[in-house]
Amino acid sequence: MIKTKGMPPRGFRRRGRERMHMETFVRSASTVRARKYDVVVCGGGTSGLFAALAAARNGASTALVEHKGYIGGIAAEGGCGLHSFYNLYKAFPDVQKKKVIRGLPEEFIDRLTAMGGASGHNETLMNYGYDSDTLCVDVEIYKQLANTMLAEAGVDVLLNTMAVDADVTDGHINAVFTESHEGCEALAAKVYIDATGFGDLSARAGAKFLECSDYAVANSIGVAGIDIDAYYQCLKECGALKEYALGKRGGVKGKLIRVDGDWEKLNPAWAKRAKEIGMQTVTTTLHDSYFMFIKLNVVMPVSPLYRDALADAEIELRRRQAEAIRLLREAIPGGEHAFITRTSPMATIRRARCIRCDYDLSNEEILNATHFRDDVFAYGFHDEAPSMQVRNGSTYGFPLRAMQVQGCSNLYAIGMMVTSNHDAHMSTRNTVSCMAQGQAAGTAAALAAGAGFGSIRDLPYGRLKDRLLRDGVYFEEEPLTVSDR
Ligand SMILES: Cc1cc2nc3c(=O)[nH]c(=O)nc-3n(C[C@H](O)[C@H](O)[C@H](O)COP(=O)(O)OP(=O)(O)OC[C@H]3O[C@@H](n4cnc5c(N)ncnc54)[C@H](O)[C@@H]3O)c2cc1C
Repeated sequence: MIKTKGMPPRGFRRRGRERMHMETFVRSASTVRARKYDVVVCGGGTSGLFAALAAARNGASTALVEHKGYIGGIAAEGGCGLHSFYNLYKAFPDVQKKKVIRGLPEEFIDRLTAMGGASGHNETLMNYGYDSDTLCVDVEIYKQLANTMLAEAGVDVLLNTMAVDADVTDGHINAVFTESHEGCEALAAKVYIDATGFGDLSARAGAKFLECSDYAVANSIGVAGIDIDAYYQCLKECGALKEYALGKRGGVKGKLIRVDGDWEKLNPAWAKRAKEIGMQTVTTTLHDSYFMFIKLNVVMPVSPLYRDALADAEIELRRRQAEAIRLLREAIPGGEHAFITRTSPMATIRRARCIRCDYDLSNEEILNATHFRDDVFAYGFHDEAPSMQVRNGSTYGFPLRAMQVQGCSNLYAIGMMVTSNHDAHMSTRNTVSCMAQGQAAGTAAALAAGAGFGSIRDLPYGRLKDRLLRDGVYFEEEPLTVSDR
C-alpha cells in the first residue's frame, strides 16, 4: 500500500515505480562462496550496533553487515539529542527520577562521555515537558567507539557490504546474500536480525510489510563559524527562546549545549524561508562555534523505497542545505562566515517499510504505561510530548513479540521498522529505544542460536529476561498497567 502525503515541492520530479520496469533481464543463478555464523545482523546503524554487541557478548559468532563505510546509522548522522534514558521526571515532579534505559546503551554512553564524545546527562531547562534529559553526541567519536566495542566483542564487521537477497525455505532463512565490491557472498546463520531501517532483509525473506510514507526524509548538517551563545542571547532578547539545556561544551561545564527558538517571533520573513526548506532550528553542540545538527526535510510524494524518487529528494535536500547556510548567515549574529562542515552521507529516513511482527504496539498502550508478559525493556519517551506523554511520567514495556517477524522462524526486526501506528512509532523509533531493542534482539538471537532452537519462538522468555537482567537491563517493578494480551 502506498500512501502519498502532500504535493511534491516545486522542481521535485514525480518519479517512482512507474518508470522503473521498462525492460526485463533474466539474472542467471550462480554458486557463491559462503561464511557461517550463529547470528547475522543486517544494518550497522543505531539498533544494529547494539544487536551485534549483545549477540557476540552472549557467545554467538556474529557478523554485522553495513552498506556504508562506518557503524552508527542515524544516531551518528541525523539526530540531535538522544531520547531518552530517563522517565519524564521533570514534567511530573511527584514522580521519582529514574534511568530506565540501562545495560549496553548506558555502558556505551558512559564510555562515549569519558572520551569527550557525549555531553553526559543534563537537565533540560525549558520545554522539559518534552524531554527531561538532554544528551548530545559527537558523531565522529561515536563511530570510533562503535568500532572499538565491536572489536572487543569479536564481531565480524562487514562494511561497504549490502544485504541484497535471502534464501528461504518455509519461512526459515538459510542464508542472506550480500554484495560488495568483491562480489556476492552468502552468510549462513542460525538467527538473523534485520536492522536495516528499510526492512530489506525482511522483505527479501517474504515478510509482510506496510509502506507508510508518513514522514519527511532529511539531511542534517553540521555548521561551523557560528556562535550558539549569541543565538541564545538573540532569541532571549526577542522573547523567542523555546528551549535550552546546559552541559559540557569545549570541555567546560555549564555551557549551552542545546537551544531552539520560535522564529516567527524572531523574524517572520526568516521563519517563512526556514519553513520553505523544511529547516528545523533546534540544535545541539559539544564544541564552541559549532552547531552539530541543523535538519533539512523534504516530504516525498512516495515512500523512500523508490530509488528514483529518493534520488530527487537527495538532490533537493542538498539544494536546501545551500539555502540554509544563506539563511543562518543572515539570521545568527556573528554567523556571517558560517559554513557546512558535515552532511549526512545520504538522506536519512524516519521509516520506509514497517515489518509485520507478532505484536503491534498501539499508542493507547504506550500512553497508558502498559507492560507485557514478555517485556524486554521499559521506555518512557514520546516524541509528541507534551501533548502525548506516558501516563504519570512512568514507562511502558516493549514486548519481545514486537520484534519477531511474522511468518519467519529465525528473524527479528528492530529499530524504526516496527510499530505501524504513526503516533506509537513516534515513541518506539527514538534512538534510545532502538538501542535497547538492539540489546534485546541480539541477546535473544544468541540464546536461541546457542540452544539450537528451530524457531526463535521456542526460546523460553524467562531465560531471556534472566540474561537481560544480568546484563543490566531495567524492568519496571511497579507497572501502572498490565496487559492481558
Ligand atoms: C533526521 C532525523 C532526525 C532524528 N532526530 C532524532 C533525535 O533528535 N532524537 C532521537 O532520539 N531520535 C531521532 N531520530 C530517530 C532515530 O534517530 C532513528 O529512528 C533511529 O536512529 C533509527 O535506528 P535504526 O537502527 O532503525 O536505523 P539506522 O540508524 O538508519 O540504521 C540502519 C542501518 O542499516 C544500513 N542499511 C540499510 N540497508 C542495508 C542493507 N540492505 N544492507 C546493509 N546495511 C543496510 C544503513 O546504512 C544504516 O546504517 C531522528 C531520525 C531522523 C531521520
